[in-house]
Amino acid sequence: MTVEFVNLKSSYDLYAEEYERAAIRCLRSGWYILGNELSEFEKRFADFIGSKYCIGVGNGQEALILAFRALGIGVGDEVITQSNAYIASVLGITENGATPVFVEPNGYFTIDADKIEAAITSKTKAILAVHLYGQASDMERISAIAKAHGLYLIEDCAQCHGAQQNGRMMGTFGDISCFSFYPTKPIGALGDAGACVTNSAELENRLKMLRNYGSGKKYVNEILGTNSRMDELQAAMLQVSLDHTYDGIKRRGEIAARYLSGIDNPLVTLPKAAPNMNHVWHIFALMTVKRDELQNHLLLCGIKTAVHYPIPPHLQQCYAYLGHKAGDFPIAERYANEELSLPIYNGMTDEDVDSVINAVNCFEG
Ligand SMILES: *Cc1c(COP(=O)(O)O)cnc(C)c1O
Repeated sequence: MTVEFVNLKSSYDLYAEEYERAAIRCLRSGWYILGNELSEFEKRFADFIGSKYCIGVGNGQEALILAFRALGIGVGDEVITQSNAYIASVLGITENGATPVFVEPNGYFTIDADKIEAAITSKTKAILAVHLYGQASDMERISAIAKAHGLYLIEDCAQCHGAQQNGRMMGTFGDISCFSFYPTKPIGALGDAGACVTNSAELENRLKMLRNYGSGKKYVNEILGTNSRMDELQAAMLQVSLDHTYDGIKRRGEIAARYLSGIDNPLVTLPKAAPNMNHVWHIFALMTVKRDELQNHLLLCGIKTAVHYPIPPHLQQCYAYLGHKAGDFPIAERYANEELSLPIYNGMTDEDVDSVINAVNCFEG
């Protein structure tokens, strides 16, 4: 038997009729960009997060780029983020000409709040918290730090739709919070899509202009913008995905619980949910010094896995100009060498989960 790492077909099949009905509604409407499907999704997603405004954009990367642009962060400014961030998080900073300043993650793979203040300089303008793998960052502390130092706070929520700290939703702490709806994300479109959420009417207005050539009124361009609009078809698909968010969170939670109680191998360290957080388990990240060997062993057992991510941003060639070297961020480097992600998705059967558990348990190094 084969266990895929992700299986978008099995997730689609669960709700195929609803997706197909929504697609036909949109296709037959004769309106494909900036219409009712998008306004409806924006309203419903803002309600889901508990934020005032949602601005649908082309993808998660552009949500990040436009968020920094809307806040006026650019050349000469520093933005603090974690050293194990996904490359797209860091590109959101550097695409605006600003400089990323890395802080090491904690044992939950999110930014270590204890290390943020030491990284603040007179050039620091913002903190970008990345809620990696579906785990909420300690936003209560991080927002207190941002407030005390007069810094903007941006959240990268691309992997954590629905994650909370003490019952408060990730995405409600930041001045702007950015979401991806890439098909594999906790709320996925059937193509590319993303969004920013904010409680500020002024930022909402700015982001709406930025995604549409910098124009609020047709052919009147107040600011330098771009084209990054979520299309109507994806907004229609996302209304269906949004309706089933909690089914997905529930199923991944069940799979994670099964892994956590079933996997027992001295070579493997299991992930843990931080206290007072509800982890939405976008990625089940275990750690082992025999990562490549375990990945090969699982592949021979028919189980596909992934690594998130094999090279930390500070060691990527594109960031050689920042002047970092191996050893600068040892925690992020260790995670890059030891992390292995097991399959975890809505539509995965208990039988699949058990075969993963058995295969991990019989790994001998
Ligand atoms: C997926 C992802 C992004 C980018 O989203 P896209 O929609 O693929 O552009 C940004 N940050 C994180 C943490 C992600 O996982």
